[in-house]
Amino acid sequence: MSIDAHIHLYPEHVYADPESWAATRGEFYWLNCVAPKSGPKLQGWATVDQLIRDMDAAGVEKAIILGWYWENQKTCEENIDWQSDWIAAHPDRLVAFAPFNANGGDAAIDQLKRAFDSGFGGIGELNPPAQGYTYDDPVLGQALALAGEYGKTVTFHVTDPDTRDYPGKIDTPMESLIALAREHPKTRFIFAHLAGMMQLPELKTLPNIFIDTAAAPLLYDTDIYQTAIDQIGADRIFFGTDYPLRTFPKTQTKPEFQTHIDSITNAGLKHDDLDKILEQNIKNII
Ligand SMILES: [Zn+2]
Repeated sequence: MSIDAHIHLYPEHVYADPESWAATRGEFYWLNCVAPKSGPKLQGWATVDQLIRDMDAAGVEKAIILGWYWENQKTCEENIDWQSDWIAAHPDRLVAFAPFNANGGDAAIDQLKRAFDSGFGGIGELNPPAQGYTYDDPVLGQALALAGEYGKTVTFHVTDPDTRDYPGKIDTPMESLIALAREHPKTRFIFAHLAGMMQLPELKTLPNIFIDTAAAPLLYDTDIYQTAIDQIGADRIFFGTDYPLRTFPKTQTKPEFQTHIDSITNAGLKHDDLDKILEQNIKNII
């Protein structure tokens, strides 16, 4: 069995026509990521019913649905409404992390409080440079402090500066991320995508930092998992896929979990380490 710490989900009306949905809301960064004008189309889509079927087929007990890193407060609110419906329908299978944009000011903080009070498990995925605010924005600081008070976790998107270019690639400086984790010791941080494999030994010195494996198959060979374990420790790594992204574009015709589970299972890791990454670590926080 496994738990997926990093998926995304959208209602059908969003992906029926992503261009006009995004244009209406001014969400052009998202549009460029999910429907780039050139290059391979990696984005898949799924209904919540299909998600549950795909989880069942691959033995995924639970999944954390992250909000997208929206550019507008209104879109964050809309995303939270979708997530509220999904977690209400599948409380034993789905956990939600709330989207957030610091430019929303007080409204963004109030919305987080409401989300936590109604059972959201954290905040994320955040990507300040893509969302139009800085890592030292005081409203972001308030959100991170609030997460700490509530015992919640915050997932940040992290880019590996050394991997190939892809639509939406943006710099996420590790010094800024580490500074936030240092300022907010009570808040748990997940640095997504193996923290871009940046400065992992340094990250290890801060006990509130974790990383996830989302989209790793797109960027690395399977020996990356052992490298990450050697550098940061198996206790700090959560399995995540980035479903419904097709992270095995050569073989996946539709979104699914099994291929990523198989690839990490066959990566030659110690059984204990694999069990921690796939399932045990995340159980301590959701
Ligand atoms: Zn993601």
